[in-house]
Amino acid sequence: TKYVYDFAEGNKDLKDLLGGKGANLAEMTNIGLPVPPGFTITTEACRAYLTDGQQPDGLRAEIADHLTRLEAGIGRRLGDPTDPLLVSVRSGAKFSMPGMMETVLNVGLNDESVHGLATQSGSERFAWDSYRRLIQMFGKIVLGIDPERFDGALEDKKRARGSDSDLDLTTDDFRTLVAAYKKIVRDSTGRDFPQEPAEQMSQAIRAVFESWNAERAILYRRQERIPADLGTAVNIVAMVFGNLGMDSGTGVAFTRDPASGAQGIYGDYLQNAQGEDVVAGIRNTVPLERLADIDRGSYDQLLDIMATLERHYRDLCDIEFTIERGKLWMLQTRVGKRTAAAAYVIANQLVDEGMIDLDEAVRRVNGAQLAQLMFPRFDTEAKRERLARGMNASPGAAVGKVVFDSYTAVKWSRSGEKVILVRRETNPDDLNGMIAAEGILTSRGGKTSHAAVVARGMGKTCVCGAEELDVDTKGRRLTTRDGLVVEEGDVLSIDGSNGMVYRGEVPVVSSPVVEYFEGRHEPTGVEADVLVKAVHRIMTRADEVRCLGVRANADTPEDAARARRFGAQGVGLCRTEHMFLGDRRQHVERLILADTDTERESALSALLPLQRDDFVGIFTAMNGLPVTVRLLDPPLHEFLPDITELSVRVALAEARGDANENDLRLLQAVHKLHEQNPMLGLRGVRLGLVIPGLFTMQVRAIAEAAAKCRADGGNPHAEIMIPLVGTVQELEIIRAEAEAVLAEVSRESGADLHCLIGTMIELPRAALTAGQIAGAAEFFSFGTNDLTQTVWGFSRDDVEAAFFSAYLEKGIFGVSPFETLDVDGVGRLVRLATEEGRAARPELKVGVCGEHGGDPDSVHFFHQVGLDYVSCSPFRVPVARLEAGRAAL
Ligand code: ADP
Ligand code: MG
Ligand code: MG
Repeated sequence: TKYVYDFAEGNKDLKDLLGGKGANLAEMTNIGLPVPPGFTITTEACRAYLTDGQQPDGLRAEIADHLTRLEAGIGRRLGDPTDPLLVSVRSGAKFSMPGMMETVLNVGLNDESVHGLATQSGSERFAWDSYRRLIQMFGKIVLGIDPERFDGALEDKKRARGSDSDLDLTTDDFRTLVAAYKKIVRDSTGRDFPQEPAEQMSQAIRAVFESWNAERAILYRRQERIPADLGTAVNIVAMVFGNLGMDSGTGVAFTRDPASGAQGIYGDYLQNAQGEDVVAGIRNTVPLERLADIDRGSYDQLLDIMATLERHYRDLCDIEFTIERGKLWMLQTRVGKRTAAAAYVIANQLVDEGMIDLDEAVRRVNGAQLAQLMFPRFDTEAKRERLARGMNASPGAAVGKVVFDSYTAVKWSRSGEKVILVRRETNPDDLNGMIAAEGILTSRGGKTSHAAVVARGMGKTCVCGAEELDVDTKGRRLTTRDGLVVEEGDVLSIDGSNGMVYRGEVPVVSSPVVEYFEGRHEPTGVEADVLVKAVHRIMTRADEVRCLGVRANADTPEDAARARRFGAQGVGLCRTEHMFLGDRRQHVERLILADTDTERESALSALLPLQRDDFVGIFTAMNGLPVTVRLLDPPLHEFLPDITELSVRVALAEARGDANENDLRLLQAVHKLHEQNPMLGLRGVRLGLVIPGLFTMQVRAIAEAAAKCRADGGNPHAEIMIPLVGTVQELEIIRAEAEAVLAEVSRESGADLHCLIGTMIELPRAALTAGQIAGAAEFFSFGTNDLTQTVWGFSRDDVEAAFFSAYLEKGIFGVSPFETLDVDGVGRLVRLATEEGRAARPELKVGVCGEHGGDPDSVHFFHQVGLDYVSCSPFRVPVARLEAGRAAL
């Protein structure tokens, strides 16, 4: 196996093997951009190391070989005492994990080569600065020493100089700092800082391999659903120096605004600095435009390179660069993370610019982003108390109680509080708190700061760099420029779309994207229009190419109407249980308590007109489109009083001696109907078979409603769906009864009321006998919620809280099977039932009506299986439309 690739040997498509950073360093090298020479150790080597606990055979020799070639090319040897080559040892996995993994700079410096570096560069100060940086990073990352110890020593030096900037430190300061750092290493590890350059390099490589399994990296992967077994590549890159003086520096940039998608120059630059300094916020960076004044030549070249990269990748790129004494070096690029809105806007812009076609634009956005864009915004009309303004790092409207540390954020959010995490700036240790928080607010750092990058990745609202705020983490308070104080627990509202920070709770309104779907978007000529136009164009294309129909789960005329505006092509699931609640409970109680046919019929006939009116409303809202009505499904106890409450009431009444006859009978009935496992008990088709007249009443209500709509000039398309069928016999009995009622109402009304009669497939036995069931069903609708419960033997209401987090932690599944369809198990039954059902009845219509119908990954699976439609909640209809389109491309 080949474990090491020179930059010239790789390319951008080798991310699996070389990681994102390595693949793109190779790509930039090959398109002729100024990248310092280097090589990449593959993720395969990392996987082997992590499995076996030692480097695979041959790796050492291969690295030595590439290092020799690197040295020969540059004409310097690693750590040479008179003229040292220095390298960085950089992690870089397939998926970017900002700030999660480790990098060591200036490898190759030691007590002797530091003099060589000083002579060659002509700057003692620079050489000692670089050396102390090496010991600091090596100490933290490779030796696991608490970084605060190094930071403390550095702060002491600055304080002694009476300055808060590292720029004021002298050569002597750095020299004594090196001595202090070496002592820290010795004290903490019992060993000296390794002087041998080759030893430094191989230890650093090992540390990078191991950083794959650092706790925060594991947490980040789980959050971002990145597989746990990919491993990281390691890049060995010749060092270039941004800390060689004021004509040197380092920066980061985006080719377009990652927050809005607007074209322009977005980035930060820091003079006389190295690597991490820009994002670590040690000094205030300047906006990239300022580089034009500092170093015009490098600036022009940088813009040129940015244009080249955009053309080459046909997408927004982010970059890291360093200027060494007026010479520009590219250190990293990748297709940049962006906000949901920017994803749409940029894809649309690139189509306009002729860089990509519309299908590619559809591929480049996704349903999760669309869902984000449908979140509410702050009401601009509402009264608001402005506290500060920072940068709009990641959009959204977040309201919550202020907390100043990750631990409290997690603790409070666990107890149900919404929190805003406020930090001066965040670092990877804040990840837990960022996940728990509604939004993140920092007082320092730009759009490329840790907080901004991570929040965008998570789709969390973030305002960063609100410099008007003085954040006192220890004192748990922040102070505005005007002296207003906000304490822990006070409520703040932050707007990630414009960077505003408000005191108190600001009311929210719906997003422009929702307004657009609702048909209410008024062109205003501003940012929202650009977004709406992009969404419209992409959605239109998705609708053109998709094969899957999209319906909605809607139980009321209002929901049905909204779903229709959102593009639903019918109702795939109209639950009828709410038609038995509220005032109607009394009829249900009578039905359940009925001793005679007359009593039962009287209760049913009270329910009939009520249900008929419900259906008229829904059929009207969905006029011309199919409405699948599911006959009553839940266990009866859900309609009866709570057993404890009723028992107490009866007991009290008895004690008073005025027990109510009806309550006594009700209590008996409740006891009788009590089930150990109601979800596997008397429900669904079983109710229809056991309670005479119940289902036929519902069918009659459907048929009469259809007849009424028809008479009023409407065009209703009712479909009748029988839940929880396990065997074809159940369905045959109910079907025969339903057909009789349909024929009867047809006769009475003079209209032909034929409607499709089908079943839910939500029990394994139904799926396994789908061929037989199709004999009595004109359609199947997979109830994937129940099917998941019954296939796994999970009770959804119980297990999620009880042990899913443990399952997720142990990696048993990466995501709950109730969220994304379990393709291997439940999906296999879906496929089998679809095939066998269609074999028995070629015109069988097949859809899905569980939560999974609106889940992006699951939609792609249903497309593959060749279902006719998915049905999901109205709000997710646009997401399903988009993902169905993406699946078809
Ligand atoms: P991350 O993945 O966290 O961004 P990087 O490997 O990109 O880590 O490195 C951290 C910082 O060090 C970046 O700012 C990068 O540009 C800088 N850096 C990495 N290698 C070199 C090098 N060879 N010369 C100069 N700076 C470097
Ligand atoms: Mg980087
Ligand atoms: Mg069900």
